[in-house]
Formats: sequence, C-alpha cells, structure tokens
Amino acid sequence: MDLLSDYLLEKILEEGAYPVKNSCMYNVSAEPIRRHVELFGDRVYLLKADDQEFVLRYAACFGQFSILKNALISYRHLPLKLFELADSFRLEQSGEVSGLFRQRRFSMGDLHVLCRDLKSAKQEFLKLYKKAHHSAHDFGWDYVAVVNMCRSFYEQNRDFISDLMQAYRKPMLLYLGVPDDKYYWVINIDLDYIDNLCRPVESVGMQIDIGNAERFGIQFIDEKGERRYPVIIHAALMGSLERWLNNILENAAKKQKQGKLPSLPLWLSPIQVRILPIADRHISKTIEIANKLKGSRARVDIDDRPISLQRKIRDAREEWIPLYAVIGDREVRNDKLAVSIREDEEYKNKQIPLEELIQSIQSKCHNRPFRKSYVSMKLSRRPKFA
Ligand SMILES: [Zn+2]
Repeated sequence: MDLLSDYLLEKILEEGAYPVKNSCMYNVSAEPIRRHVELFGDRVYLLKADDQEFVLRYAACFGQFSILKNALISYRHLPLKLFELADSFRLEQSGEVSGLFRQRRFSMGDLHVLCRDLKSAKQEFLKLYKKAHHSAHDFGWDYVAVVNMCRSFYEQNRDFISDLMQAYRKPMLLYLGVPDDKYYWVINIDLDYIDNLCRPVESVGMQIDIGNAERFGIQFIDEKGERRYPVIIHAALMGSLERWLNNILENAAKKQKQGKLPSLPLWLSPIQVRILPIADRHISKTIEIANKLKGSRARVDIDDRPISLQRKIRDAREEWIPLYAVIGDREVRNDKLAVSIREDEEYKNKQIPLEELIQSIQSKCHNRPFRKSYVSMKLSRRPKFA
C-alpha cells in the first residue's frame, strides 16, 4: 500500500501538484456538506461532538475547495493543482462490503486542477487521461472507458471526444443521456478494470466541473484584474489504493487461470529475496549475504526456522517470493548462489554471483519507488498473523 502511494505521489509531483493534508471530519452546518448529507444521509458517518454534528470525509473535494476558496490565485498560477491521499469513509451496507473491492474506509488519491476556462481544462484533462492509461500499463493492464455527458456537450466538443479516443485507440462507451444542467460536471469518465471474473471494477474517475467554483466561491484574478470562476478537473488517477491492490491481485489470478504462477511485480513484493540456509552452520554466511542485499536496497529475509529444506522451499513458493537462494556447504565454499527465480510457468534455477543478483534486482526495479522491509529479517522472529 505504501509503495503504491509512493508511486502515485511521484505521478502527481510530475504534474506539479501541491500535496495537501486536510481534516477527515467536517461540520454539517457548512452548506455543501449539509446538502450532501441530505442527499446521501444513509451513506455517511455522522458524529456528534460539542453539540454539533460532523460527518466523516466522504471525498477530498470539500477540504481542497476550502483551501482554494481562501487562496489568492492569479491567472499566472493556472493550471493550479492540489492533491490529497485522503482516508475516506462510506457507510456501505453490510452485504456490499467486499474484500479490497469495496470497503467502508479507503485511501482515495484525489487531484483537483483549476483551469482558466473550458479550453484549457480540456487540454489538462486529456493529459491526465493519458497518464491514467499509462499508469495502468505500468501494472500490466488496460482499462475500458465509460464516458457520461449530455448530448449538447458532445455536439459542441466532438474534437475533444475524438482526441480522447485517439489517445488510447480503443473503443469507448459513450452515454449521451445525461440531462443538461443536472450535474456540476459536463463530462465524467470512469475507467474500469475488468477482473478475473469479467466484472468491471470502476478504478479511475475524472470529471470536468463547471459548477463548483461558483458554489464554493473559488476565484482567480485574470489579466484585466477581474475576478473569474475557474473550471475544475477532479481526477482520481488510481482510484482508491485498496481497489488498485484489488486489481493487482485480480491480475495475478488471471495469470494463474492461464496456468502460470501468480506473482506481484518485483518492486511491489513485500519480500524480494529469501535466503534458505540448509543447516545451522550456514546461518552466518546467510546473514552476510542478506546484509549485502539489504545494503543494496533489496527487501530480503532469512528462513532460519528449525524445519526441513523442503518445507522452507514450499513456504517460499506459497508466499510468492520472487527469488530465493539455498545456502549449503557448496555455496559457502564458492562465491556463487543457487537462485530460484519465480517466472511465468515455474521457478528457474540459476547459478549466479551475488553481484549479478543485486544488479538484476536493481534493473528490474529501476524507476520504481523503494521502501525498506517492514518485517524482521529472520523468519524465526516473526509472529504469525492469522
Ligand atoms: Zn473532487
């Protein structure tokens, strides 16, 4: 989850967005919040404190709009981008909550872009739309695009819709039945991931919003010194991190269906290399190798439990460990490692020097975020979480 949030933050910073952090409780006496509660009261968490009523954050828009409302913004600052990875809460009914797919608390990465007019909003939107598809390719899948808009917007912006189509060169589902003036947005695109059971999983949501700047009092000063309302893009480029992880696991399940070994990308694997000593006399060499790997930014662990080598190998495979190496007398004597590499169909065995293993991990994880391992290096020291 943390690596995914690092990945998302990198994408957002490339866009020149300002990351922000807001409260996750909002006072219901604020007009837009009150209206939301009236409309979706059975889907929000309400709390009482100090004789006032609060709602747990259901989206990041309100918090960011509150910042923007009080900001002094010139046309020179546009497009202005704010981003927040926000814990959000929805009171889903009990039958609707499902694994990582739908939860009552989730981490939503929400980007808002203030643009001077619709023309500039369309340019920014197209860029973000391409970015969302590009990110999906980084993880090995394609989205299906579902576009909602009213017919009049479509008629007046055919070139823009065709640019969106050209960007991806795949069919899009266009729904033109949205009534005029019903929503604050003029176009809404959902990008759906198709899961292992062929169900669409709404994963990315993007909108061009022409109504909220006025409603929230968000303004910028134009070249003539006059106050104007910007057009706002809402973009959840990865949706919620939980759903993104859901898609990663679904993708692994698809692989398994094709008779391949399910796996995670190496840079996302919680443990990248496991070292398996055959006997206690091999442990010191094992620790030496593990420390070298750790020093070279790899997440490594050691299976030092008093169990058979067969059991250790079976566990490493069941835990989808991408690389494991057995250390015995021969490995202690010469400088090569017997590495088993989890590939599509099976583990492939390779005799390689440690340096080569390190280089191969680094090149496979190139340009991807890295975090240190969150668990103790020795398996014998790890509690079992059921
Ligand atoms: Zn929003």
